[in-house]
Amino acid sequence: MTISGKYRGVGVVLRFGELFLKGKNRHLFEKALERDVRRAVAHRPELDVRREHGRIFVLGADDANLLAELGAVFGISSLSPIRFCAKELDEISSIAVEMAKAQLDGAKTFRISARRSDKRFRWTSADLGRLVGAEVARETGLNVDLEAFDLNVGIEIGPDWTFLWSTQRRGAGGLPAGTSGRAALLLSGGIDSPVAGHLMQKRGLHLSGIYFHAFPYTGDGVKAKVVELARILARRQGELLLHVVPFTALQECFRDNAPSKCLVVLYRRAMIRIAQQLAKRDDSPALITGESLGQVASQTVTNLSVIQEAAELPIFRPLIGFDKAETVALAESIGTYQTSILPHDDCCSLFVPKHPETKAHLPSIRSIEAKFEWQPLLQTAVEQTERIVVSSVKE
Ligand code: ATP
Ligand code: MG
Repeated sequence: MTISGKYRGVGVVLRFGELFLKGKNRHLFEKALERDVRRAVAHRPELDVRREHGRIFVLGADDANLLAELGAVFGISSLSPIRFCAKELDEISSIAVEMAKAQLDGAKTFRISARRSDKRFRWTSADLGRLVGAEVARETGLNVDLEAFDLNVGIEIGPDWTFLWSTQRRGAGGLPAGTSGRAALLLSGGIDSPVAGHLMQKRGLHLSGIYFHAFPYTGDGVKAKVVELARILARRQGELLLHVVPFTALQECFRDNAPSKCLVVLYRRAMIRIAQQLAKRDDSPALITGESLGQVASQTVTNLSVIQEAAELPIFRPLIGFDKAETVALAESIGTYQTSILPHDDCCSLFVPKHPETKAHLPSIRSIEAKFEWQPLLQTAVEQTERIVVSSVKE
């Protein structure tokens, strides 16, 4: 470690924001974030990732692709392309001038935002602002305005590095993968559930997936599609354990014994009961669905509450207040939309009339469930569930 700094060239600095709230856990969060950043840039072995003194650097490039990839990593509040240099005023000034010139574009005012945490460096932050600012003003004709500035050049003198930046982009926010624990996502082949999973990943949950497969009514094409969606979600966490539940026998049993109007609600209660058994085995204390209020018959307030009643675990429904168009836009931006819209059969509509019940009555649903034996079939479905470890990279 030398006073003049150990890094040279270009890179990207990542700022954390919300992580600072985490007190004692901060170290764990930083380590998780470093792991996620390494995963995001793993396909570029020429890059180096360093975590030091509460900063994460990606060293060796600052191109637009890299910024976009890092901009998608949860846990980062903002990021900037940076230039490292020696801890020398002349070099700092000349890079500051270059950076300001690169961004002139009609600008009239600027400011220098200097931070010096290395007290061995002889100039204070205020000195740096004044000295470097004078040089930038002289070379560019810009005026200093600390409040209403058109461009900003940042200088950071850390323990063993010095770098400058002049642009900043927003990060994805949220929390690093898995730092909030685990939850099981009911993952269908539709548009909504992958988006719901993504939003909960953003809050730091590590997902497993549960897919109810009604073969042969829903073909293996749907299963392949769900595996593909799981693969997209796995990018955020490395691997995703997908449970494929054989659901046909149970659905046929409900079809043969219950009024068709109530089937959707009965299926959904059965799904929840199976899902929570699988979730508990997987140490997941919560379920996630893509339900959105009023979207379809099973998603009225009344029906949601009847479905909820079958659950012991909390059910997170991050899309509950979303319009379909908002969900579609998110699905497009996270890359699941094109897979989700491939044609598929939906097991929830199997044997269901055109106008299913929208106001299920809990006592009636319970008395229907008490009339015939579906529990053994439910248990068989749990026991015969297939487990697939879906990796973010296709083998
Ligand atoms: P999606 O687009 O996610 O399929 P949807 O608008 O089609 O949702 P429903 O089919 O009623 O709505 O499903 C609501 C939620 O129930 C889904 O978001 C998903 O979480 C869960 N779900 C429905 N069908 C299945 C299935 N076959 N396997 C796993 N989960 C399912
Ligand atoms: Mg669906």
